[in-house]
Amino acid sequence: MMTKTTRTSRTILLFAERRNGALRRVALEALGAARRLAGDGGQVHAVIACADGAAEDAAALIARGADVVHVADDPALRDFAPEAYIAVLGAAMAAVGPDALLLGHTAAGRELAPRVAAAHGAGHIADVTAIEIDDDGDVGFIRPLYAGKAFERRQFLPGHPWIITVRPNNMPAAEPQDAADRGGTVKELSFTVPKLYTAVRGIVSRAGGQLDLSEADIIVSGGRGVRSAAGFEPLRQLAAALGGAVGASRAACDAGYCDYALQIGQTGKVVTPQLYIACGISGAIQHLAGMSQSRTIIAINKDSDAPIFGVADYGIIGDLFEAVPLLTEEVLRVRQ
Ligand code: FAD
Repeated sequence: MMTKTTRTSRTILLFAERRNGALRRVALEALGAARRLAGDGGQVHAVIACADGAAEDAAALIARGADVVHVADDPALRDFAPEAYIAVLGAAMAAVGPDALLLGHTAAGRELAPRVAAAHGAGHIADVTAIEIDDDGDVGFIRPLYAGKAFERRQFLPGHPWIITVRPNNMPAAEPQDAADRGGTVKELSFTVPKLYTAVRGIVSRAGGQLDLSEADIIVSGGRGVRSAAGFEPLRQLAAALGGAVGASRAACDAGYCDYALQIGQTGKVVTPQLYIACGISGAIQHLAGMSQSRTIIAINKDSDAPIFGVADYGIIGDLFEAVPLLTEEVLRVRQ
């Protein structure tokens, strides 16, 4: 167990979250963070909960820097069953005795992390966007506050394991390392399936099968200015040309132009893509709460006084129905 916040070599456990039988990108981002936190001479353990053996994913984690991958394989883990997943994490914590457990700040991670922290008497820092390690090995966790208007740097007090969730799309994903340098072990993790109180009866995708918004590098987002469900079509074309996903403001969802699964903002998804293109969105504070941390923001709006221009890196003052098709045309031309 952790005794000093400044120790430089640690044992880190990572919850390698999967979706639809494949590793989520945030799992690889958490792996990159885990390697940094482990430090020279430290160990990174990953735990996979699955019902299909997940052999390829275990190998991918080892190739990218995990030293040991613990695989819990049971039909009860096919879909996200919180009690079963908590039992898996409990078994992994007991087997590894880590200084820290890292999870993605996803729906599953947000549900699991506080429960595991409570069960293990551990500290919990949620929604971490950056990890700072100074020359003395002192570790600070940066997380946004007040819907991204401020950031705080938190540290754990000594004596307890750390439980951390990392926000998707904010840290570099661990890359495959030179095969010659990599050795790793895959271990079966046994656990007892507890009484389950909930069961997944079916999964309905309402985002049209597109890329997960929280993990998308590029988002083309539409607001009330898009005027109708059909008005989203040019945005979909631009997103497809760029290899991105489509998002929306709450006003567009409320108006029935698109599904609430696409809503970005305070009461929707929080996203941090490389590029966010806001089309016909005014830039209300509740919308900014979900996207203002995007790396580059382009706003397209007829109103030059729209607040969205206050956070935009580039602005187009004009009609989105003219600007968006022109952008698509240009993207397709340069990509040819
Ligand atoms: P509007 O504010 O109506 O803006 C439409 C914009 O489109 C205007 O700026 C207009 O100039 C421009 N426009 C019109 N036609 C064109 C055209 N042809 N070309 C270019 N530009 C054009 N909102 C969210 O988005 N996400 C949230 O999570 C969220 N949570 C909320 C939670 C609470 C508790 C509350 C009270 C509100 C929340 N809202 C949220 C709502 C938020 O306050 C705004 O009402 C909403 O963001 C406005 O959406 P909009 O920008 O699409 O619409």
